[in-house]
Amino acid sequence: AGCKKAEIESIIVKENATLAYKKTAILNNINGSILRGEWVAIVGKNGSGKSTFLKALANLIKLKSGDILIKGKSVSRWKDKDLYRMLGFVFQNPELQFINDTVFEEVAFSARQHDWKEEDIAAKTTMLLKEFGLAEYINLHPFMLSFGQKRRLSVATMLLLDQDILLLDEPTFGQDEKSANQLLRLLKRRQQEGTTIVMVTHDMDIVDQYADRVILFEDKQIAYNGHPYFFFRNKRGGMIPPLHYQLIEEQEDRYANEQSVLSISH
Ligand code: ADP
Repeated sequence: AGCKKAEIESIIVKENATLAYKKTAILNNINGSILRGEWVAIVGKNGSGKSTFLKALANLIKLKSGDILIKGKSVSRWKDKDLYRMLGFVFQNPELQFINDTVFEEVAFSARQHDWKEEDIAAKTTMLLKEFGLAEYINLHPFMLSFGQKRRLSVATMLLLDQDILLLDEPTFGQDEKSANQLLRLLKRRQQEGTTIVMVTHDMDIVDQYADRVILFEDKQIAYNGHPYFFFRNKRGGMIPPLHYQLIEEQEDRYANEQSVLSISH
């Protein structure tokens, strides 16, 4: 039964996990699970602990208490090599993560750590770069790419090993709408194939259009964990809801007014 559960739940945070840097607790009493193929948006004000949460999921900071299970096994007990084979992360300023001289090598890099055959590396890398609209830049230095292309490259580097959990910190930040949408569509396609996506974002339209669930961090805790609809309807976390929620509200107000006018005229 344990195994079956692990197939459904990509990530489980349990036992009131505390996430901290040295002695400073950033998030307390964290519990919950993220299902395979789910797209979860992490939202909250600056400094509320969103990036810290992603780092904990990637085993980059140690928990002060509680535990995080990735596919049923404590994140601290996975070997790095195995963990990062199934879990990819793209943090802010991904260009700081680039370490190779060409776009091709940047994507191929992770496979080289796993002794793949050269022809397999070439085939898979070429396919990914095509998918991400980067095929024509294959021999360029990664630093030569535009901001949006760099973000796409950083996501592509996280997919060569078919990682099926993606942790993304503001992947569309600073991009024009076209490249942002292009990236989101690629992520959507991956999600439909079963990839779990945990994404920090400030963009409420992305939350509205893509997320299955919103987790809001506020006052060092989970302040909301549920469907985007109720998050927006209840105006949680001081976020401004997408336009169509505002229109629903105006219509409701108008309806309520009409009802009261009707009842007065009776
Ligand atoms: P968010 O991503 O929501 O903006 P962060 O997770 O980056 O928030 O930061 C949460 C809190 O943790 C902030 O108060 C920040 O100053 C602090 N913090 C972030 N990184 C470190 C670190 N490496 N060492 C100590 N404190 C940190």
